[in-house]
Formats: sequence, C-alpha cells, structure tokens
Amino acid sequence: MIWNNNKECMPREQMRELQGKRLHKIVDYLYHNVPFYRDKLQQMDIKPEDITSIDDIVKLPFTTKQDLRDNYPFGLQAAPQSEVIRFHASSGTTGNPTIVGYTRKDVGVWSECMSRCLTAFGVTRDDLFSVAYGYGLFTGGLGVHYGVENLGAAVLPTSTGNTEKHVRLLRDLHVTGIACTPSYALYLAETMEKMGVTKDMINLRVGAFGAEPWTENMRKEIESRLGLKGYNIYGLSEIMGPCVSYECSEQNGSHVCEDHFFPEIVDPETLEPLPYGQPGELVFTTLTKEGMPLLRYRTRDLCTLYDGTCACGRTSVRMGRILGRTDDMLIIRGINVFPSQVESVILSMPECAPHFLLVVDRVDNLDTLTVQVEVRQEYFAQGFDTFEPIFKLERELAAKLRSVLSINAKVQVKAPGTLERSQGKSKFVIDNRILK
Ligand code: ADP
Ligand code: ZN
Repeated sequence: MIWNNNKECMPREQMRELQGKRLHKIVDYLYHNVPFYRDKLQQMDIKPEDITSIDDIVKLPFTTKQDLRDNYPFGLQAAPQSEVIRFHASSGTTGNPTIVGYTRKDVGVWSECMSRCLTAFGVTRDDLFSVAYGYGLFTGGLGVHYGVENLGAAVLPTSTGNTEKHVRLLRDLHVTGIACTPSYALYLAETMEKMGVTKDMINLRVGAFGAEPWTENMRKEIESRLGLKGYNIYGLSEIMGPCVSYECSEQNGSHVCEDHFFPEIVDPETLEPLPYGQPGELVFTTLTKEGMPLLRYRTRDLCTLYDGTCACGRTSVRMGRILGRTDDMLIIRGINVFPSQVESVILSMPECAPHFLLVVDRVDNLDTLTVQVEVRQEYFAQGFDTFEPIFKLERELAAKLRSVLSINAKVQVKAPGTLERSQGKSKFVIDNRILK
C-alpha cells in the first residue's frame, strides 16, 4: 500500500521540476534568514535567482557537522523562535549534540513522511504499534510516534527501559508492530526467551528498525526470533529524524522522500558528485524545511543510490544499506575496516551470537584488533563451555575475518550475556589508540 500516491509515484520529470522550484525557494529563504548561508553564497558569488533547476544544486556550498557545532545552538536556525514548536538534539554518537528546531509545518511534514514509511511496511489503522525508540531529545521516539498517530494506528509509547514490562504488554495487548533499534530488537528477543515467552505467544508481525547500521543476517535473526517481518528505516536529526527513507515490500533499497529531502552521493575526499550506482558519502538538501533547512549536508554515511522505478510502483530514488560512516571507519594498519564487515562474518557463524565488540589498540607501534563475541546459549549448553570447541571456534573466526578484512584479528569467544547490552544505539568499537 502507498500513503501518498501523488508524491511517492510522481513521474520523474515532474518530480525534478518540483525539486527545482523548492530548491530555489529554500535558497532564497536561507539567503534572507541565515547570515551563515548568505555569507557563504556571497563568497561564491551565487544569488538565489541563479538557482532555477535541481541541476543547479552542484553550485551550492556543502554544510558539515562542524558548521552546526560552530553555530551552536541557534546560528543555523532560519525560523524565528516564535515559529518553532519543538527542539531535538542529535544523540551525539560522535561529539557534541546538535540542536534542531522544528516549526509546526516541519512536524507536519515529518508525520506525513513517517506515515509513508509505516504504510510501506504494511501498517494500517488496525495495528497497535509499540514505539521502543527512546523518547526525549533523540528523534526516534517522538518522530515515529507522530507518524503512527497521523496514520491512524494506535501507538503504545513504550520507549526503552523496563524490557520485561514491555514483553508483558506485547503479549497481553496483542501488539502487532514495533519500532526500535535492531540491537534492541535482539535484546527484546533475549529477554522474551529468559521470561519463557515464545514468539507464538505474541502477535508482532511488522518491525521498523533503524538508527544504526544492521545487516541482512541480522534481519533474518530478528525475524525468526520475534516472528515478524523487519523493514529498514533511515533518518538523521539534522535533516528531520526517522522518515528520510524506508524500505517497501520489495526490500531492494530504501525509498527516499525526495520531494522533501534531496539526496546526492559525493566522493568524500574530492566532494565530486558521483553517479547513481557508485558508493560514496550521502549528502542531503532539505527542500521544504522551515526551522533549520540545510544545503548539501554531509551525513558522513557511506552508501549507494539507485534510480529506476521499483516493482512496488514508487518512482523515488533508493538508498542501499549504510555501509558505515566516514567517521566510524577504522584504519587498522592502514587498512579500512568497518564494524559492519565484522558483524557479517560473525553472523555467518551459527555458533556466534549477534553480540560483539571490537577493541583496537596499539602495541609496540603496531595496531591490534581484538574481536570479542558471545557464543550462542544453545551451543554453550552443548559443550561450548569447555576450552577445546571454544579455541576451535576462535581459530575459524580468525581465519574468516582474515579473508574478509585482510588483517589478523585476535578473537575472544565469550560466554552468553557477558558483553554489555545497549537499549539505544549500540557501541561496537572501543578504540584505545585515541585515548593515548
Ligand atoms: P548521531 O548518531 O549522529 O548523533 P542521529 O541520532 O540523528 O545522530 O543518528 C543519525 C545516524 O544514525 C545516521 O546518520 C546514520 O549513521 C545512523 N542511522 C540511522 N538510521 C539508520 C539505518 N537504517 N541504517 C544505518 N544507519 C542508520
Ligand atoms: Zn519499492
């Protein structure tokens, strides 16, 4: 099903025309309301009237997270304070939080785009939907919440924490949908198993997972343990929050809400735009935002964009999975390593649970990588609590990691439940090199 047929399935030429008109308007608005952008545009000798089509986007300056930090807290806000009805702050995974203000119209656009996502996942007015993203400064909780209400389904604002109570509510209220981080979905499955609640005792059928990178293997794992179908949802607070892109039933990439957020892929080194089909850094321009519109915001997320009509009927550009962030890419002995690569190796081993930690260190001027991973409960109960099978598993995992990453990693297989769990975004890496 499609929430907004007119926008989601708009013929490409018409969409580009709409994007061009909106781009001109937003540049004009920023020129007159945000000194930071006016100065930048003047330095580059660009006037709002020079921007007449979406192709002109390449003339515009980039915006970085550092620009947001330098202008903390309100420097990039375009709307007057009296028009702003809500503030969020990014979770600050990689530094100080960023403050984002939303006008009433912005919150409306957000709810509209969230409703598009949920409808693509098959959520209807008949669903009872648990929002288990954190409520508060993080955009996940309230963002999805408003989308569920706008769609007309019922929302259960569970937030994170008190997972056992959450499991009881899922069971007793016959909750049919859930939104949370993929790592929290696994934690929920673990908690259910501990409580003796099987997937047949609950009614979950659809899950909206995002806010952190995850893999196809993780999808299979969550789907089989919770008995639902899992969909990818992507977003970031600087641009809006969850709703920027979403999977459809085809699950071959995530459709971008392109009438509001214009995506580009650029080479992260040269900043040259790259064609569809080539991986690079994802860049977004907000086309309709009033509170804090951004031009060519560098997300630091690495992915690939695809065009072409999808079998679901939507015409919008699709994003591949996030391959990593330019800033979470580890360089170990000169080799680029993404935690997601390690994760896919771990999940390809049936003995390993999807809980792991990468510890990077420097010993005698040489980088070292240690991968800690938990063995699955069922294997642990069947002999994996002794040294021999554990050592064998460690050797096998090390060999697989070597072939995928091209570096030697030390593997430590741990007992179930020993690595720290996260209820929000997971922390997969400890880089001790930075601390020295
Ligand atoms: P931050 O983590 O930068 O403080 P946010 O809380 O706004 O800020 O998180 C946005 C980031 O979360 C994105 O830039 C991306 O790296 C990650 N993210 C969000 N959704 C997904 C997803 N579906 N897959 C992978 N990564 C995601
Ligand atoms: Zn589709």
